[in-house]
Amino acid sequence: MKSYRKELGFRTRTRREFVNITSLVETALAESGVREGLCLVNAMHITASVFINDNEGGLHRDFERWLEKLAPEKPYDQYEHNGYEDNGDAHLKRTVMGREVVVAVTEGRLDFGPWEQIFYGEFDGMRQKRVLVKIIGE
Ligand code: ZN
Repeated sequence: MKSYRKELGFRTRTRREFVNITSLVETALAESGVREGLCLVNAMHITASVFINDNEGGLHRDFERWLEKLAPEKPYDQYEHNGYEDNGDAHLKRTVMGREVVVAVTEGRLDFGPWEQIFYGEFDGMRQKRVLVKIIGE
């Protein structure tokens, strides 16, 4: 069985951002040489997400608005977590959007359903963050 590991780096310009990382994961898959197996992609930070959804700007703005209703960034003092930090909302948003995705690898390709794309969801950005890609199979 083959095993391949790669870290992707991100530093967003804004506190919150969604980044389409599908092509980066496809590159990692090509590097792995795996034709049949599984591909795990997870955020390595507890204030960021990896999720699969549609690559559609309106939907991404809907996510932003929905998440701000669930866990507004401000006022910072509404969160017990905030004190030394101001990212209580980011921890909650990350939990809703998820930590990781697993995609089947079939005939050397990510075996997506219609319109599926992989996104990195940043909720406490403007700092260096990492995503782990782990691919196993043969
Ligand atoms: Zn925190």
